[in-house]
Amino acid sequence: MTDASIPPEADWDRAPSLVDGAGSLELTAADCDLRYWLRAVPQGTLRGKVLGHDEDVRPHEVTRNPGPLNEALTQELAFRSIAEDKATRALGHMVALAPDTATLEFYTTQLMDEARHAMVFRRHLLSLGVPEHDLFATVDRLAAADRDAVLVPLENLGLQVLRDERDFIGGVVVLTILVEGVLAPAAQLSELKWRVFDPAAADVERGAGIDEIRHLTVGSSVAREHLLAHPEDKERLLDLITRGRALWEKLPATEMTLRRETLFQKGLDAHRDLAGDYEIWPGRRLADTTVEERVETAHAWSEAMQRKRLIYMGLEEAI
Ligand code: FE
Ligand code: FE
Repeated sequence: MTDASIPPEADWDRAPSLVDGAGSLELTAADCDLRYWLRAVPQGTLRGKVLGHDEDVRPHEVTRNPGPLNEALTQELAFRSIAEDKATRALGHMVALAPDTATLEFYTTQLMDEARHAMVFRRHLLSLGVPEHDLFATVDRLAAADRDAVLVPLENLGLQVLRDERDFIGGVVVLTILVEGVLAPAAQLSELKWRVFDPAAADVERGAGIDEIRHLTVGSSVAREHLLAHPEDKERLLDLITRGRALWEKLPATEMTLRRETLFQKGLDAHRDLAGDYEIWPGRRLADTTVEERVETAHAWSEAMQRKRLIYMGLEEAI
């Protein structure tokens, strides 16, 4: 069912993939104000999908039951829910510092989006066998080490810029380039690789990915418009990008991804029959992919997307 009042980039069936959409669309904060969001998201992307998927879409039992697929997905969801929780809190600063109504409205909607992502990633753990009374303790047990090693240092950079320096545009750059720009392609990989083993999780990712198209394109446009009006800020923002990248180099993010991808591979090896001829991307059967290939593909998407967006923002020196 398509509804002409829902913008195509937010329509469940018509929206592009995250990497394609964030690499090609142009949306501004003024385009994506509260009126847009109310129509596009609660009444559009999420209609009938309060938990991020239709109620009759369920994880496959091989993923619901204990085993490597269950471990890989629960670790991933726990980590992602903490990341989204931290993003939501950081966005509270963005809203407080927003220089005008367009950015105030847009970042208010992004704050809601990220709080929703935290909620749907966390709640999906219930469908994977985690008891409700144990939900928060389980998130902690599964992801506290990765949180401390990867997310807390990134959060500290964001807080230094937003809370301590009250630098709105610096916060936009941290969020758009250093956090979401790096993590988004991993989310797209997740949608594609879980499609067979847990279609509900894949749908949760699909919905978050549709939101992410908006976050990346609008964030880039806010940075672009700021730099056109304030070219004197360019050096400072380039320095911030350099600082953020130096921080990333020290984070054990690749180790974390490889660990989860290795668990996924164990599950894939054990259940090749289920994967069948499903193609993770055109011309490539999921069953034939390897840990390295999946990680490298997501990395290549990230590089290509970042390159396009940095040029668009006027920060091509950062490539
Ligand atoms: Fe998010
Ligand atoms: Fe986001």
